[in-house]
Amino acid sequence: VQGGRDRLRIAIQKSGRLADPARALLTSCGLSWRESRDRLFCYGESLPIDLLLVRDDDIPGLIRDGVCDLGVVGRNVLAEQDIALRRDQGASAFREWRSLGFGGCRLSIAIPETWEWSGAAQLAGLRIATSYPAILGDWLREQGVDAGVVELSGSVEIAPKLGQADAICDLVSSGATLAANQLKPTVTLLESEAVLAGPVKPFEDSRAALAELLLRRLDGVLRMRHSKLLMFQASREAVPGLLPLLPDAESPTVMQIDGGDGLALQALCHGAVTWQRLEELKRAGARGLLVLPVEGMLA
Ligand code: ATP
Ligand code: MG
Repeated sequence: VQGGRDRLRIAIQKSGRLADPARALLTSCGLSWRESRDRLFCYGESLPIDLLLVRDDDIPGLIRDGVCDLGVVGRNVLAEQDIALRRDQGASAFREWRSLGFGGCRLSIAIPETWEWSGAAQLAGLRIATSYPAILGDWLREQGVDAGVVELSGSVEIAPKLGQADAICDLVSSGATLAANQLKPTVTLLESEAVLAGPVKPFEDSRAALAELLLRRLDGVLRMRHSKLLMFQASREAVPGLLPLLPDAESPTVMQIDGGDGLALQALCHGAVTWQRLEELKRAGARGLLVLPVEGMLA
């Protein structure tokens, strides 16, 4: 596959934790593809934006080499490869363009359950198994701790049991995998989630406009995910007491009710519209409250 100039190519994980949410997010940006799930390449139909389905570890390298223009990958993978690249080449080739709000997890140090955690200094002289040697190495240096780093590509959590390491540095979400291996998480080195990764330098051909269009839609989708349109009626006197109760609302639209003396209000709320919040609004004089999901938004 050749690096196109007038089409944009996005690398996403072929299968795994980020595969479906990445595709769903791009679909909600209005992208569609002529595709077959088992093939590695999906040809963009609604826009000249194609997908390449790959292993997540390959995504930063594909961007660096210009094989792909953008990618959806965990911050953990991007950060690890960026540190390694900067160490070897002295410069970054890719960076985080947007954080995407899914695939959340932490890169943490975990120690045997029976140990008491007293801080980073405790790791001195120990062996720590990880798939993230660059992030861990940087962190140990920052902490001024001299520890051994045992690089493993998988099954890091069983390394202490196998006697390969004393502690580990691995991704944690619920902590269930750690607990099943008699380990407990301690300090967090990196808060991770899926990100849109792109090159450090902006595009200089027609991909620039495509990338900009995609980013604008993406920002709209990300913002509206937690947004609701709130509609209700109230008397003119109640309005000043109601406005402070609207969760992170943009300035509401206030309309005169035809033939009545009340007002109709509609507000786009970016915070959580909880039952409690609705009840507070009702007590403060709101009537006929309606909460509507937002389908699209273009600022
Ligand atoms: P591939 O075959 O593409 O290399 P993988 O096994 O490396 O897949 P997954 O396990 O699907 O990758 O994880 C992909 C990403 O999901 C991780 O890099 C991380 O950013 C994120 N993630 C979220 N929660 C977790 C978790 N509990 N454990 C591991 N990764 C997680
Ligand atoms: Mg992987």
